Amino acid sequence: MSNSREVNYTCPYCGRPFTITVYDSVNTSEDPDLRDSCLSGDIFRHSCPHCHTDFMIQNPMVYQDPNHKFVLWLNSSDAGRDLSSFAKPLVKQGYRLRRCATLKEFTEKIQIFEDGISDVAVELAKYDSFIEFIDNRRGNPEDVTSVEYQSCNDGVMKINVRTDDKGLSFLIPLDPLMEEIRAQADRYEVNDEEMPLINSDWIISLFTEAEGTA
Ligand SMILES: [Zn+2]
Repeated sequence: MSNSREVNYTCPYCGRPFTITVYDSVNTSEDPDLRDSCLSGDIFRHSCPHCHTDFMIQNPMVYQDPNHKFVLWLNSSDAGRDLSSFAKPLVKQGYRLRRCATLKEFTEKIQIFEDGISDVAVELAKYDSFIEFIDNRRGNPEDVTSVEYQSCNDGVMKINVRTDDKGLSFLIPLDPLMEEIRAQADRYEVNDEEMPLINSDWIISLFTEAEGTA
């Protein structure tokens, strides 16, 4: 079930106290409305009733989607936690488990898993799109502000590479990437019990390690 609590909070802008509702966990089967406010980030958005300033409080949260069978743990750090007692039974039930370090990773992961595709394939597609963007001299690596998954239709992913003043979309077929992942199963193995971060840092670390040992 979803768990929330009331927290006494002091407005960082006007210094006056009020109460906010903080969600520690969200279950999308029981509270479908909360899925939308997670995807939009509204669940972390609060407004001071005194000075009416809006601000974000991004507390750690567990997001469970029983229909699409995935659990996301939004937390910038996993320092010193043993998650196996929580994770193991879910893995047995066929859940995919991930930690998300940022709100952006979190909302993107919801989309990817609702679309029913592999987030490893998405990270590969994002990496390939970034390389293609640079190789075709569309821009310099330092100009790229984000590489985002947008959608997957008829087995083709749409990836957006953005800079401050422009953006470019890449269409990346899913099947060849899934073949690559199968062919190098050891390299792309993901241990759900550890609630791993599967993001751009992760995919870059795989390629950096490979170069280092070559
Ligand atoms: Zn205020």
